[in-house]
Amino acid sequence: MRTTVGIIGGGPAGLLLARLLHRVGIDCVVLEARTREYVEHRQRAGMLEQGTVDALRACGAAARLEAEGLVHQGIELRFAGERHHIDFPVLTGGRTVTIYAQTEIVKDLVALQLADGPPLLFEAQALAVEKPESEQPVVRFLHEGREQTLTCDWVAGCDGFHGISRDAFPAATSRTYAHDYPYSWLGVLADVAPSCDELIYARGENGFALHSMRSPSVSRLYLQVPNGTEPDDWPDDRIWDELAARFAIDADWTLGRGPITAKSVTPMRSHVHEPMRHGRLLLAGDAAHIVPPTGAKGLNLAVSDVRVLGRAFAELHRTGSEQLLDSYSELCLDRVWQATRFSYDMTRMLHAQPNGDAFESRMQLARLHRITASRHAAAELAANYTGLPLPL
Ligand SMILES: Cc1cc2nc3c(=O)[nH]c(=O)nc-3n(C[C@H](O)[C@H](O)[C@H](O)COP(=O)(O)OP(=O)(O)OC[C@H]3O[C@@H](n4cnc5c(N)ncnc54)[C@H](O)[C@@H]3O)c2cc1C
Repeated sequence: MRTTVGIIGGGPAGLLLARLLHRVGIDCVVLEARTREYVEHRQRAGMLEQGTVDALRACGAAARLEAEGLVHQGIELRFAGERHHIDFPVLTGGRTVTIYAQTEIVKDLVALQLADGPPLLFEAQALAVEKPESEQPVVRFLHEGREQTLTCDWVAGCDGFHGISRDAFPAATSRTYAHDYPYSWLGVLADVAPSCDELIYARGENGFALHSMRSPSVSRLYLQVPNGTEPDDWPDDRIWDELAARFAIDADWTLGRGPITAKSVTPMRSHVHEPMRHGRLLLAGDAAHIVPPTGAKGLNLAVSDVRVLGRAFAELHRTGSEQLLDSYSELCLDRVWQATRFSYDMTRMLHAQPNGDAFESRMQLARLHRITASRHAAAELAANYTGLPLPL
């Protein structure tokens, strides 16, 4: 097989890139290791920055999002028995965020791709990217029981944190920055109407909890748990009791309970790979960087990488100039590090320290009080949460 851009990975980054390329007449092939069923049901993100919504709209993938997405005007911070509203439009000059599940974005993009897009192969597992420094890099992959090759002008490594694209970068010119946090998130999906209109970020002495939602009838909730926790360590009643305790406030408020339909544990880590380009191989999304989910940045960063990459390929196609492709890594990494910093700060501010460090605990409260007392501090949080501008 031969194509202009070989895309490894059919997650949000790879699928959106395929749409952006298709719209400007650049041919591509998407290789996805898993089945369609699997990628359409993998529970992950749900909070979209305005720029992410705009990108999906611009490539004709936002019809359902516009009908079903929940526009949120802010978030609630809960700590020390009190609740505080952070008003995004007031603090940012009108920006909002939208709740729409990643699973639904993937379904929408897959449907468009299969209807009129370039090839999207499921159960096509990339094994290696060969000769990325050459004019014709090759992706070796397994599909329908045999090894095949995809010869490309360019390769986009959109294969997530556990993919193979990063392996093609030479160790001598690559650097990885990583940080593991001493706690994980137990996430549950529950068939119960959310008990709030906005996301609640709760800091308690027993740990952090997040109340999120996927739709008006489905809640998504998270609990800070020790590393090494197994989902089965937490029977449903224990989860609801602990959530209720961590969200407890002085005012009248109760947490609605319902059947839990999915349960998983996610370790918290930050990871940035530099650079994001080697020869004709370009990384985008989780393949290049991951952040702890506290700042809701992972999916949004994947989309912003792809928006830059899509424009760079469009410029090459239209004018023959590789200028944007040459600055791709630098352009993206600036925003990546800002999102990494924001996710780190949010995580450190809201999670209980496993060693019970009393000084650190008071620092967290001081940071939270500053945000709720100072418009400037709240505006800084709101600007980062709703998304920093695209570097173009
Ligand atoms: C519990 C949780 C909550 C989250 N909440 C949020 C949130 O609220 N907001 C937010 O912005 N982000 C959130 N994230 C992060 C977000 O889900 C990811 O950042 C996002 O999925 C990145 O998209 P991607 O396309 O880069 O990678 P992925 O979604 O990981 O997609 C990569 C794809 O490549 C495929 N693949 C891997 N290896 C190969 C191979 N060798 N050959 C072919 N295909 C391959 C995989 O099967 C996968 O489909 C959350 C993540 C988790 C785990």
